[in-house]
Amino acid sequence: MKFETQAIHVGQAADPGTGATIPPIYVSSTYTQEAPGKHKGYEYSRTQNPTRDRLQAALAALEGGAAAASFASGMAATAALLTPVLRPGDSLVAYGDMYGGTYRLMEQVFRRWGVDPRYVDEPGADAIAARIDDTTRLVWIETPTNPMLRLLDIEAIAKAVRAIEASRKADAPDYSVGAKMSLGRRILLAVDNTFATPALQQPLALGADVVIHSTTKYLGGHSDVIGGAIVTRDAELMAPIRYYQNAAGGVSSPFDCFLTQRGIKTLGIRMRAHCENALRVARWAQESGGFERVIYPGLEDHPQHALARRQMRGAGGIVTVVLKGGFEGASRFMSRLGVFACAESLGGVESLANHPAIMTHASVPRARREQLGVVDGLVRLSVGIEHADDLIADLEQALQSEPQRSRPGPAA
Ligand SMILES: *Cc1c(COP(=O)(O)O)cnc(C)c1O
Repeated sequence: MKFETQAIHVGQAADPGTGATIPPIYVSSTYTQEAPGKHKGYEYSRTQNPTRDRLQAALAALEGGAAAASFASGMAATAALLTPVLRPGDSLVAYGDMYGGTYRLMEQVFRRWGVDPRYVDEPGADAIAARIDDTTRLVWIETPTNPMLRLLDIEAIAKAVRAIEASRKADAPDYSVGAKMSLGRRILLAVDNTFATPALQQPLALGADVVIHSTTKYLGGHSDVIGGAIVTRDAELMAPIRYYQNAAGGVSSPFDCFLTQRGIKTLGIRMRAHCENALRVARWAQESGGFERVIYPGLEDHPQHALARRQMRGAGGIVTVVLKGGFEGASRFMSRLGVFACAESLGGVESLANHPAIMTHASVPRARREQLGVVDGLVRLSVGIEHADDLIADLEQALQSEPQRSRPGPAA
């Protein structure tokens, strides 16, 4: 089945008991057993839940993976990958331009437990390979990155990682996080695919081992649910993750699973609309001359435009602009927006504007932020699927000098 069909049908077979075309939300925490130990595969909903199983089946299918695990947030998913595969003394290599919360987790939490996170500033495969040594068990990348929209060549990085694996002399010690597993000589290549979504890019097919999602963003798609997911290329790697999911318990609730699956059904059509609108907004922003800089991988002047065309089926829904006049300029612009809401997060049907230096990336130290290019005048636009004319009109009026708020206020 093609992507759009899978998104609607995988994990969505009619309810066998009633014929309900849309399966019910199984809120039950526990399951009645015929006799002790004699049950239908479900005992307790932290361990397994039918609504979560359905979502996990859909997520695995969309990314082309063997299995998926669904969590209460993107960060819970990231922690559930890092915890069972890293031990004290291990290193991970990450491309430095990443989600601020991921950097915080690696730097403030995992470093304390003896993991050595190493951040690479060059997006090329060679720069990443150069930081890998015998202690490295994981390579972490995001592409396109947040908020600078740099692209990393997943296939080239996977090739470089495989070459290092092949030259390794010794196996890693047995990790044995519940499920018996040794990484052997493996270096896991993990891709945070939140920005692109599987509608635009499937990292597992390009050689990655694991995909991570904040399903809060495009997969949920309506800014009404927090969630995260891990998808693995092989079933073996899911065993320790599944074990940890049950042991630590950061699972997504049945209602959250339902909402996320409902969102996924329109992912294909939404991503097409996001991409079309984002390209129109980016072209307008560039032509307006009102910004110091406009970054969008779908613009011909983006330094990795060719890679975007090769690796992605659309350039995504995020456009990053740098306002003239630094923080003051950005702040004035954002407070004048009416259709775009000034809010954190991204990937919903509604357009949002975020100021990373103050909002999402505040946990990244200033020096590091500036090194990445996250300057005070930078604004990240999550372009929604409203009519592009309305979005452009809103941005245009916000660039004018006179304050004018067009947002309808709360009902009197
Ligand atoms: C939002 C986000 C996360 C974190 O996900 P939560 O659902 O907020 O925990 C991780 N990676 C990226 C790229 C994100 O945008």
